[in-house]
Amino acid sequence: KMVLAQLGGSISRALAQMSNATVVDEKVIAECLNEISRALLQSDVQFKMVRDMQSNIKRIVDLESLAAGANKRRIIQQAVFSELCNMLDPGKPSFTPKKAKPSVVMFVGLQGSGKTTTCTKYAYYHQQKGFKPSLVCADTFRAGAFDQLKQNATKARIPFYGSYMESDPVKIAVEGVERFREEKSDLIIVDTSGRHKQEAALFEEMRQVAEATKPDLVIFVMDGSIGQAAFDQAHAFKQSASVGAVIITKMDGHAKGGGALSAVAATKSPVIFIGTGEHIDEFEVFDVKPFVSRLLG
Ligand code: GDP
Repeated sequence: KMVLAQLGGSISRALAQMSNATVVDEKVIAECLNEISRALLQSDVQFKMVRDMQSNIKRIVDLESLAAGANKRRIIQQAVFSELCNMLDPGKPSFTPKKAKPSVVMFVGLQGSGKTTTCTKYAYYHQQKGFKPSLVCADTFRAGAFDQLKQNATKARIPFYGSYMESDPVKIAVEGVERFREEKSDLIIVDTSGRHKQEAALFEEMRQVAEATKPDLVIFVMDGSIGQAAFDQAHAFKQSASVGAVIITKMDGHAKGGGALSAVAATKSPVIFIGTGEHIDEFEVFDVKPFVSRLLG
């Protein structure tokens, strides 16, 4: 939250500086917008998004300040708020699981993004809400992946499925989903591989697992601190699996917030949760407006 607060702080300062100016003219507004753009770029928001935001705000301000006696400060403040909200809101809500109606949710993301940890957090969150979640480990690539999921699941008392012998992730995913459908789990969570090398092969694997398990929702998990790489990474996953929601992890660390904006833009999907620590309950529902309000102080 530390670094995120810096972004909010810089934007708020830019707005405050404008408020201190006696006359809010073109020059003052341009300076304010430049300050805000600089803050966003420093927070790893993609250059094109920053440029679009700047011109959107300019347009709103130009239009609305035509009205006699309009309060330009208020207009620009509201424009910044709503632009940030728009950037984080793709305009359509994601699929949400319903109790007692079986859903399959598949998790994708690079190794180290926090995917396995997040699968358990997501399962635990829904268990607390009265769901009967279950976890399937379809990561046959990383040695120790199944053990990690098993440990997490056991601690949280969540049924799990996986194999030490089987090397075909599609087979495990299908078997796991079948097993838990029979056991009347209403939220079957499929964890997948995230190896860094051979990305084409990874994306092909994601496509196959998705095709075989027909998930109701694919969640893309992204490390919030990866910076400018966020947009391309999110975009690549969006193309191989039909990503419908995003979870940003490690928001307690060096995340600057820009990654979240880029992931939403690249996947056209909403952020639904953020990870704020290693522990199973360090997991927060993500809501756009309160997030932006908090960001801007
Ligand atoms: P995977 O390879 O994507 O499955 O990643 P893991 O779930 O194994 O997580 C990689 C590391 O990130 C582990 O040390 C996790 O404890 C840590 N991690 C995951 N989510 C968070 C988070 O929200 N905050 C922090 N600080 N660490 C996290």
